[in-house]
Amino acid sequence: MARDGFELPKRAMAVFAHPDDAEFGCSATVALFAEMGVHVTYCLLTSGNKGTHDAHMAPDDLAQIREKEQRDAGGVLGVKDFVFLRHDDGELEVSMEMRGEVCRAIRECRPDLVFTQDPWRPYQIHPDHRVAGWCAMDGVIAARDHLFFPEQLRDGLTHHRVPRVLLFGTAEPNIWFDVSGTMDKKIAALKAHVSQIRNPGVLERMRGFAATTGRAWGLEAAEGFRYLELG
Ligand SMILES: [Zn+2]
Repeated sequence: MARDGFELPKRAMAVFAHPDDAEFGCSATVALFAEMGVHVTYCLLTSGNKGTHDAHMAPDDLAQIREKEQRDAGGVLGVKDFVFLRHDDGELEVSMEMRGEVCRAIRECRPDLVFTQDPWRPYQIHPDHRVAGWCAMDGVIAARDHLFFPEQLRDGLTHHRVPRVLLFGTAEPNIWFDVSGTMDKKIAALKAHVSQIRNPGVLERMRGFAATTGRAWGLEAAEGFRYLELG
């Protein structure tokens, strides 16, 4: 299934663990959607407050730097809103608390489609990436029924059904998008993560990866996802 025939959402939300995860995983598609008028929100479970090799960098300072980098990267892509849940980097756990926080973000942002990290990916060794995917999926399910987290449903907040999910970082893609026109935005967004992208070789690897993905479908560059339609 290619982009042709894919009904664009009006609103999309990407739920992920760390600043830069979405840039690596789905940002060329995010930019493509944004160019076509989709309102995109980023929801980050951590602000990456342990992602440094600098022994003198304090976690709170690093979180501020990385939130700024994330806003800059999102700005390149056309992301409109940012939700920072500010849990500690490296310590995410699947919990009812986390599920409730993601559920609330979904009920507030009301996306028609959610991007998140594929929690079923085999040999996904980063615990935060696994947890982000699980909590995003669990939050999607919780958000749709009014008896889940009913204490959230006041001041106009109502339950919300997300009908479609795109899992990135997947080993089993079943949909792809032609991102030939937005790869430059993806690379520019990655470059905005100045504290993380120390080796420019990674940028070339991302171009190569997109080219390899695209080659299978006769495209210059593509991003692949596991696409789920929820009943
Ligand atoms: Zn990450």
